[in-house]
Amino acid sequence: MTGFWPSPTGRKETLKIATFWWAGRRHVGRLSADERDVTPLALGDRAHAVGALALVEAMAEGSPVPKASGAALPLSAVKLDAPIPVPRRNIFCVGLNYRAHASEFAASGVGGPRAPQQVVPEFPVIFSKVPESVIAPDAAIRIPDGLSSSIDYEAELAVVIGKSGTNIPPSRAMDHVWGYTIVNDVTARDLQRRHQQWLLGKSLDTFAPMGPWLACTNELDGAHTRVRCWINDELRQDAPTEDLIFDIPTLISTISAGITLYPGDIIATGTPAGVGIGFDPPKFLRRGDRVRIDIQGIGTLSNPVE
Ligand code: MG
Repeated sequence: MTGFWPSPTGRKETLKIATFWWAGRRHVGRLSADERDVTPLALGDRAHAVGALALVEAMAEGSPVPKASGAALPLSAVKLDAPIPVPRRNIFCVGLNYRAHASEFAASGVGGPRAPQQVVPEFPVIFSKVPESVIAPDAAIRIPDGLSSSIDYEAELAVVIGKSGTNIPPSRAMDHVWGYTIVNDVTARDLQRRHQQWLLGKSLDTFAPMGPWLACTNELDGAHTRVRCWINDELRQDAPTEDLIFDIPTLISTISAGITLYPGDIIATGTPAGVGIGFDPPKFLRRGDRVRIDIQGIGTLSNPVE
């Protein structure tokens, strides 16, 4: 299996790609190994419009990673944007994909009464978030006045598709993966419960913090990494992705069965136990909180709550 990142030279190319604002425009750049600098890449106007989606699309057409378009900039001098600021369509999301989280969710009653055998789903639970819910690292998650009193966080490893495909078998699924990022699948639990379908509770403005950048599949193995989430200084979620009920190849195979996946599509793979609704009493987000998510091999995504 060659994967999405063949290495004809035998050298494994590692790549972290950030979308950022600098000098009044959006740019796409490559991070230095020490993550202190970012070098803008020659991707033309498309990068100004859609960020790192321009790179993923170009590579899907067979282009190599573009050359630098300017000197390296200190990361501290630029403002990070979400790597894919407006995804090409809804973000695919997976519910109840960690056993311990499926149990805490069942106990919360948000999903309605469930028989014990229904706690862990037989098939992947797939829903979506609208593209406009995405926000940048450090941008504020806004608690909407009067609409919801139970805003929750969900730290998730997100897969970025690099190559189109339909009916992709699990054995070939990783050939279609460009890399990974972090998505916080912010959720209004009361709306999730009230409307049964999850779209509204998951898609409010600012409810999809994404970042801090993209990491290619040579940077980490999504099947063997660690997802952690702190609220302020309290560690709430900490799980290895070995705990996923449905692994990444299974998710890609399931979604692509009849729905063509395209370069730049994003799949948030589900959240581990430790979300706010799992505590008694629940620990929902409050104004002034900060949510910090770290995934080994990618980096840290941090957002305040307002
Ligand atoms: Mg989720």
